[in-house]
Amino acid sequence: MAKCKNIISAVALASLVAVFFGATVKEKSKSATHINYVSFVEKLDDGLIKSVALTDGSTMSFQIINDETAYITDNPRVDGLKEELLLKNVEVVEGKTTSVIEITQTILSLLFFAGAFYFVIKATGKANAKSVMAFDATDASSGMKELFSFGDVAGNEEAKESLGDIIDFLKNPEKYSSHGARVPRGVILYGPPGTGKTLMAKAIAGEAGVPFYAVSGSDFVQVYVGVGANRVRELFKKARQSGKAVIFIDEIDALGKKRGGCDMGGNDERDQTLNALLTEMSGFSSGENVIVIAATNRIDTLDDALLRPGRFDRRVEVGLPDHAARLSILNHHAKNKPMAENVDMDALAGETVYFSGAMIENYLNEASISSAKAGREFIETQDLRDAYYTILAGAEKKNRGESWAREKRVTAFHEAGHALMGKIATPENTISKITIIPSVSGAGGFCVNIPPEKMFLTKTELRAQVMVSLAGRASEELVFGKDRVTTGAVNDIQKATSIAINYVSEYGMSESAGLLDMAQFGDRSRLADECRELVDELYAQTMAMLTENRAKLDRIANALIERESLDATELEALVA
Ligand code: ADP
Ligand code: ZN
Repeated sequence: MAKCKNIISAVALASLVAVFFGATVKEKSKSATHINYVSFVEKLDDGLIKSVALTDGSTMSFQIINDETAYITDNPRVDGLKEELLLKNVEVVEGKTTSVIEITQTILSLLFFAGAFYFVIKATGKANAKSVMAFDATDASSGMKELFSFGDVAGNEEAKESLGDIIDFLKNPEKYSSHGARVPRGVILYGPPGTGKTLMAKAIAGEAGVPFYAVSGSDFVQVYVGVGANRVRELFKKARQSGKAVIFIDEIDALGKKRGGCDMGGNDERDQTLNALLTEMSGFSSGENVIVIAATNRIDTLDDALLRPGRFDRRVEVGLPDHAARLSILNHHAKNKPMAENVDMDALAGETVYFSGAMIENYLNEASISSAKAGREFIETQDLRDAYYTILAGAEKKNRGESWAREKRVTAFHEAGHALMGKIATPENTISKITIIPSVSGAGGFCVNIPPEKMFLTKTELRAQVMVSLAGRASEELVFGKDRVTTGAVNDIQKATSIAINYVSEYGMSESAGLLDMAQFGDRSRLADECRELVDELYAQTMAMLTENRAKLDRIANALIERESLDATELEALVA
């Protein structure tokens, strides 16, 4: 049996090496063009760079838009390069160089492969491989020198509130276990980069006074099978020894990505690592109080296995800050900086729309550098202005402020339409939040409309759902005119269409289509006609209701333009 495994892995590895070798030969036949760093930066500013492969090497390779040539330039190895690239819409590939592999790296990798080859053969023949593979869990930064608390996380009020009980659990596990409560084992924090997910995880550990172990999902995905899984086990062993702990896994998507079609079998390692993680998490016994907090920018790409109950069943969005949150982040990071008295923090909050917490922090930092360089005692408005352009440098050459002002109005009316229609057509639902700050899914803004939980929906409720979905577009048309409606309604139209199809073809609610399961007739055009009629009728009704309530629509939209987000009570006050 063990022998058989050996042979299989030997064959697998041999073919891997062959593939690898083939790939490097191919790579080398395309020789790379070296460009100096200054020209690289110029190209970057001109928006000509398509992708960059970031490594810790002395050079990095990149690709120019509409150009097949592989280029390399010196790697400045500075912090913040990745963010700068991302802000300029450049695709960033991390870890390995995709287009050019330096010869030394190639040789090293080959040696490495040869090593791995020998090694896996030994490992699969079980025995004492473990000690070799043991992951030094001290790699995971634990015992932070700096302690963080929720006071360090400005804004993010909703996320903090929904994580409060995790802290309580870590502090007083007995309280929960004596009540037989099943405590969450895993929490996923999701949201754009730099919004404070790591900070939040550190703050949870800090508040609860437990050790913090941080790793990145990409650390676990290794070249050869079994190592990642071992690292996971070592990490958990270490955390368990502390009794109570927070394990933080950044970039969880690196090991828990949805299985795609064309990964050609190379997923063994990732699957094993993922399985080890899930096994460790379900293996927590009652005496162990270890909470795993994972972070990702893209929750929609996560493997469903991670999201099942008993695993990462708590999901908390950490979104981009709205005006009020930006103000508190600004104030927080300005605390130990000599801001000139005439600097208007509220105005800065207004200007930093779409900034993440990390960008705001960076912004103030750049401003203090500018002020120090100029030998000024305080950070003045001109420092802030310089810093602002440094942060946005080339992110978008057009004036962000101007386009934002225009888009803000459109988004505000779009979302106000959803909110108002929600209030009118779905009075039993709770509209918990409405905002014009984009969410992770990329929509311009969003309006959270939560229906009460029930088994069935009535015909009226389905029609109301369609109307609420169409109300964003209807409001845009009402306020800006038929020809100025935007693409912002794409998700709304998808939703309305799928409800309409079910309404007509499955629920037998359309009078003219009758009680028939339309799917059993091959002809889809009849269905399309029926849906069209239904949606047109509901759109006209939506339009009529918004027109009738125009004053309320304006009030909500104006409040959104001013405050960017509204909660349930604020919305209630506006429509009362
Ligand atoms: P993420 O993990 O979401 O990518 P981080 O937690 O690493 O973001 O944030 C990077 C830095 O940005 C933090 O160390 C902090 O200085 C700043 N920052 C981000 N969000 C906030 C916030 N809500 N309040 C205060 N500072 C923040
Ligand atoms: Zn919408």
